[in-house]
Amino acid sequence: MQRGAAGKLSGTESLVVAMDGPSGTGKSSVSRLLADRLGARYLDTGAMYRAATLRVLRAGIDLADAASIGAAVKELPLTIGTDPYHELIALDGEDVSGEIRGDAVTKAVSAVSAVAEVRELLVALQREIAFSAQRIVVEGRDIGTVVLPDADAKIYLTASAEARAQRRNQQNIAEGRGDDYAAVLADVQRRDTLDSTRKVSPLRPAEDAVMVDTSEMTKDEVIDELYRVVAHRIATSSAGGAR
Ligand code: C5P
Repeated sequence: MQRGAAGKLSGTESLVVAMDGPSGTGKSSVSRLLADRLGARYLDTGAMYRAATLRVLRAGIDLADAASIGAAVKELPLTIGTDPYHELIALDGEDVSGEIRGDAVTKAVSAVSAVAEVRELLVALQREIAFSAQRIVVEGRDIGTVVLPDADAKIYLTASAEARAQRRNQQNIAEGRGDDYAAVLADVQRRDTLDSTRKVSPLRPAEDAVMVDTSEMTKDEVIDELYRVVAHRIATSSAGGAR
């Protein structure tokens, strides 16, 4: 392994990993674990779109009114932490980590995140956080394509809609939110369509992203694979003298 590569993996140099993909691939939990293994910070950009959506819902804005949505998030009093093991997301100092995962926000978030002003504001904030953290795993939908196109490694996690719905439903059961596989599958498919067909930053893999299909993999297998992908990317870019 090249000198630069060893430093990047062991935690002595900056390292930016972009993790993209649709919901339900296990992206959040494996991104946290990967960040921990790399000695890096972790940023959940989905939580930022969810917090913006909560703000819009609380203001009683019509979800079809893009101009009012844009105006409502202009001065978003958002705090977001980057500790992989301690979720911190607050609006005006109020912890909203539970509420942003609720049904109301989940149903409205695709509409809010399709508004160009919302994306501009949050993308700028995400870049700022990533640059100041230096070593970070950033998770979302457009990280490798738009937010951090120069990331050291880009990964696109996929899984079949059924496998993703199955996982989300199990999570709902475990967290006391009920058991309804058919409804969860319908929601996964609805959000996939909205996210991949929107005009601004549609969900798609970056050309240089490594695709990892997690349908048949355990969490541990996914982490091992992701670590291998990052190590390989760093080794090959150091060997080529890039960066
Ligand atoms: O990852 P999570 O499911 O919490 O994301 C919620 C929603 O936020 C997604 O369905 C998508 O509409 C939006 N999102 C986005 N761009 C990102 C992250 C999330 O549009 N980088």
